[in-house]
Amino acid sequence: MKEGVLSRGSFFHLVNLILLCVSDIIKETGMGGCAMNFCEGCNIACDGERCPKCGRKKLREVNEEDFCLVAKVDRLFGDNLKINLENEDIECVLMPYGTGVKAQFALPLESYLLYVRYKNLDYVRQILKEENH
Ligand SMILES: [Zn+2]
Repeated sequence: MKEGVLSRGSFFHLVNLILLCVSDIIKETGMGGCAMNFCEGCNIACDGERCPKCGRKKLREVNEEDFCLVAKVDRLFGDNLKINLENEDIECVLMPYGTGVKAQFALPLESYLLYVRYKNLDYVRQILKEENH
C-alpha cells in the first residue's frame, strides 16, 4: 500500500465522518438555514421531526408569519413586553395561562404564554435572555 494514498473505501468513510461532524455543529448552533418544522397543534417551531410538546410527527415547514410559542412570562412582564414590542412594530400574542380554578373564579391569572411570529422569534428570545441576566 502506497503511503499517503487513501483507498476509495476509506476516502468515503472520511467524507462521511466530516459530514457527520458538520451536521452536529449545525444542530447545536441552530444555524445552517435548514427549514424548521412547525406544530399547528401547539404553535411550536422545532428543528426535529417531532413536536417536543405533543410528540406529533406530522409537522409542516414553518412559515415566517406563523405565531410560535416563545415562553411563559409573568403577567406584568408580558404586559410591558407587549407595549415594547408594539413600539417596534412586532406583533405578539399573550394567552392567559393559569390554573383552571382561578379562571373559574375570574381571578387574575398569573402568567401568559407569549407567541410571536416566526420571523421575530430569535429577536424576542434574545430580549428574554437579556432580561434574565
Ligand atoms: Zn405539538
